[in-house]
Amino acid sequence: MSQYFLGNAYHAPKQGEIEFLRKTLIEVDGQGNIQSLMDENHANYQSSIDTAEQEGTLTILQAGQYLLPGLIDLHIHAPQFPQLGKALHLPLEDWLQQCTFPLEARYQDEAFAANVYQKLVSTLLANGTTTGLYFATLHLEASTILAKTCLELGQRAFVGKLNMDNKAECPEFYCEENAEVSLETTIEFINRVKTMLGNDHQLVQPVITPRFIPSCSDQVLEGLGEIAEQTDCHIQTHCSESDWEHNYVIDRHGKTDSHSLNDFGLLTRHTILAHSNFISEDDCDVIQEKGAGIAHCPLSNYYFSNAVFPLRRALDRQMHVGLGTDISGGPSASIIENCRHAVHASRLREEGTNPALEQSQRGLAGSRIDFMEAFWCATRGGAIALDIPAGSFEVGHKFDAFIMDINAPNSNITAYDNYDDEMDILQKIISGAGRQNVMKTWVDGKLVYEQ
Ligand SMILES: [Zn+2]
Repeated sequence: MSQYFLGNAYHAPKQGEIEFLRKTLIEVDGQGNIQSLMDENHANYQSSIDTAEQEGTLTILQAGQYLLPGLIDLHIHAPQFPQLGKALHLPLEDWLQQCTFPLEARYQDEAFAANVYQKLVSTLLANGTTTGLYFATLHLEASTILAKTCLELGQRAFVGKLNMDNKAECPEFYCEENAEVSLETTIEFINRVKTMLGNDHQLVQPVITPRFIPSCSDQVLEGLGEIAEQTDCHIQTHCSESDWEHNYVIDRHGKTDSHSLNDFGLLTRHTILAHSNFISEDDCDVIQEKGAGIAHCPLSNYYFSNAVFPLRRALDRQMHVGLGTDISGGPSASIIENCRHAVHASRLREEGTNPALEQSQRGLAGSRIDFMEAFWCATRGGAIALDIPAGSFEVGHKFDAFIMDINAPNSNITAYDNYDDEMDILQKIISGAGRQNVMKTWVDGKLVYEQ
């Protein structure tokens, strides 16, 4: 049976363009697909509202409430959730060795994993994140628990068991036995997720996940390329994130991450590259030629990348690009917060930061993006990168959405009649919304969170 949603909505079906859907009636079929959109001028508008009201299938938005497409987080390290908001004062090497690897190693304990993953996925749904692309750990069981948790809580998810078999770069306590074990457990994980009870519609999908080139042997990278070809699974990894990592790959393979991944068969239409701060025009060409996507993680860039991804350039080239929280390299679980940081980061690139320099020397002209482009990245841009029919309110798309209420208790957003127009209100939402403004979240047409 269909259900109906009546109210104001925003979406960004095209990069850089926002559509305000005034008092729109959205029909969602029993499979969670958007069946129709009607505005007030549609011949069946009122009769459809009347029928839905009689049948008890109508959700009416209140004044100050807006329906937004669900947010898409393209880069989450699920096991790092307990570390969110701490250890950010450390340099990357210490952060990894002293904090992150020991924490990730704890997921051998399944009860620990189940507890953290329950909290993480609930938190993301409460922030309006309807699709998550996750790095789990190298543990088969704990990675399976993450996939199950996403399915049980109803989040659209792409989950990867990590590959880390290169003993020269992985700590002894957190490294796979050998390449064979790494590849065998990957195949087992893919089969488990695909055949998981209740996952008939593949709401949760397995992802091939070499942590990054340094953590994997060439044998594993080669094997993963073959698995990708056989299974058509998504692929995720880190790409040219920091000076160290970027140069490590050049030293080891004589080429950049993008070219190396491509040669291993790991750069496809279904690949998401986290960060990619140091990619050249030539790297962009190969990434774009293969149709791979990039997860821009502005908050994490501030702390661990020694640079900020040039998002403007990627958007101008029409690359596939979305946003990621990079929990816990970035200290926020909210994609809305990362939207505003994507804007801030681009403004800092453009204006520069060092007042000791002449104004003309300080920044990089033409680097800025605006809130509308950030919103597109957070929604439709992420969906295009993942190649899923979501991220905007269009017939045939999945109904993944949430209610943003600017009048929610403790809201930091204020709007004024005859002063703020629709675009002002959306800019205020991107600039000031928090978890308190997210009232209800739906994935695949199912209510999965309610305040
Ligand atoms: Zn990461």
